Amino acid sequence: MPIYTEITVSPDFIDDNSFIRSEILKAIALPEDKQIKFKIIKRSIDSRGKFPKYLLKIEVYMEGEDPEQKFYSLKYPNVFSKKQVLIIGAGPSGYFCALELIENGLKPIILERGKDVISRTKDILLLKETSVLNPESNFCFGEGGAGAYSDGKLYTRSTKRGNIAKVLKIFVDHGANPDILIDAHPHIGSDKLPQIVKRIRETILSHGGDIYFNTKVTDFIIKNETIIGVRSEDDREFYGEAVVLATGHSAHDIFELLYKKGIFIKAKPFALGVRIEHPQSLIDEIQYHHTPRHNKLPAASYRLVCQVERRGVFSFCMCPGGFIVPTSTDIGEIVINGMSLSNRDSMYANSGIVVEVKVEDTLPYTGELSSLSFQKGVEKKAYRYNPQKNLKAPAQRMIDFVKDKVSPTIPDTSYFPGVFSADFNEILPKNVSMRLKRAFVEFGSKMRGYYTNEATLLAVESRTSSPVKIPRLDDSLMHPQIKNLYPCGEGSGYAGGIVSCAIDGQKVARCINTYRELK
Ligand SMILES: Cc1cc2nc3c(=O)[nH]c(=O)nc-3n(C[C@H](O)[C@H](O)[C@H](O)COP(=O)(O)OP(=O)(O)OC[C@H]3O[C@@H](n4cnc5c(N)ncnc54)[C@H](O)[C@@H]3O)c2cc1C
Repeated sequence: MPIYTEITVSPDFIDDNSFIRSEILKAIALPEDKQIKFKIIKRSIDSRGKFPKYLLKIEVYMEGEDPEQKFYSLKYPNVFSKKQVLIIGAGPSGYFCALELIENGLKPIILERGKDVISRTKDILLLKETSVLNPESNFCFGEGGAGAYSDGKLYTRSTKRGNIAKVLKIFVDHGANPDILIDAHPHIGSDKLPQIVKRIRETILSHGGDIYFNTKVTDFIIKNETIIGVRSEDDREFYGEAVVLATGHSAHDIFELLYKKGIFIKAKPFALGVRIEHPQSLIDEIQYHHTPRHNKLPAASYRLVCQVERRGVFSFCMCPGGFIVPTSTDIGEIVINGMSLSNRDSMYANSGIVVEVKVEDTLPYTGELSSLSFQKGVEKKAYRYNPQKNLKAPAQRMIDFVKDKVSPTIPDTSYFPGVFSADFNEILPKNVSMRLKRAFVEFGSKMRGYYTNEATLLAVESRTSSPVKIPRLDDSLMHPQIKNLYPCGEGSGYAGGIVSCAIDGQKVARCINTYRELK
């Protein structure tokens, strides 16, 4: 049986196993020459003191004992000739659903509107060179979904540790750095994610699943309130025992299709605001109390939250050492988000700062698409505000925004299409901008140095979660009205973020299997 202990280690010694070993022996009061084996099971950073330290949780084994192998190797059967399940969308929820279906002996057929991840990478590079958006192949659409060119943060508020461990293990089996299994804040980075996504595709295909790229689903085939298949834009039909709708929060056409066909959906609260960018060195100085930061410490991050007039204002998807990127999916709208590479070494720290938007805030829009219309309205306004009508984002310095002053100059930013100086009062809804202003001042008192005119705000951060919920039954996860339709992942409104969507995909796959066995 292992002994569990915790030690703190200066960044100077974090790679020094003999130092760590001697600290462990001290911690468990054993002599220096005692033979032990140890395994680090959690690594986090404690930056409360003057000098930040690593905090390690460790399993220690005495002589003759070997570290337990907690992680099983996943075995996938061949499902080539098994019963078929259609999955719409090759994002994290779609791909993890597919893997779980295979584990359960079912054949996934995945339909994806965008391209395979390698061709998609070329489109992203083209977007960088030309700032011209391809509405079917971009930062949100294509193999890997919105997660493929993200920060690749792999933390979630889900408390089901077993499920999280399985998702992380699948990432490692497909090429992610095994450090994600122990880091308190694991992340992968956009330079690594596409290859991992490609390897997951290879696993699905080599075990009998099918994947169709450039296949946009535009209709559902429904008989007697039961979905039996889907139709694609080029008029092909696909049939399956069940249909998993894993199309993400940006597939507005799918929400509109559901609405048009009278399939129950519900307007949902979401969050809206701006993305803020500071110099990373400033965030390091605030969080680690030193600059330049120690070379064995990662770029520092932060998480901020407050309440302003009964609405939460919070930081969202903070990307240390990252980049702000254009995540619009249609011409005529400006949407931004953040990403980073695995070594998080850009000069900038960015984060969404967003305000909770309740359904009643979306007036004059009403009905089940009201939150979506409200969200779209702001994204279009940000675009219309730009005289050049391109992907340049409106920008304003933080203190100027709070003091209602248009910024005469804007600092350099990481956002490659470029920015232009704007008055955010003209773009953001009043109840959002008022709350942001008060929150920035409060955040400045929580993190001294954060409230500075060296920080730039870019607009708009609007796709924080789905503005629509596609309801499902608690036990079977099936849509309450349309039999065999399984809303899944971020677009369903029941999950958000890579790990949570992956877990949701697995959960839906298990429900489909259970339901089939009951039939
Ligand atoms: C820039 C950026 C950075 C992010 N960073 C992080 C992060 O660091 N950590 C984190 O946890 N989350 C992050 N996220 C959020 C995360 O990526 C999403 O929560 C997650 O990808 C949602 O997974 P999903 O499978 O439900 O949907 P998506 O990933 O959105 O995938 C949906 C897929 O469905 C396809 N599709 C849509 N409509 C159709 C149709 N009609 N027919 C066929 N296919 C269709 C799309 O092309 C897409 O591939 C980030 C998002 C972005 C945009």
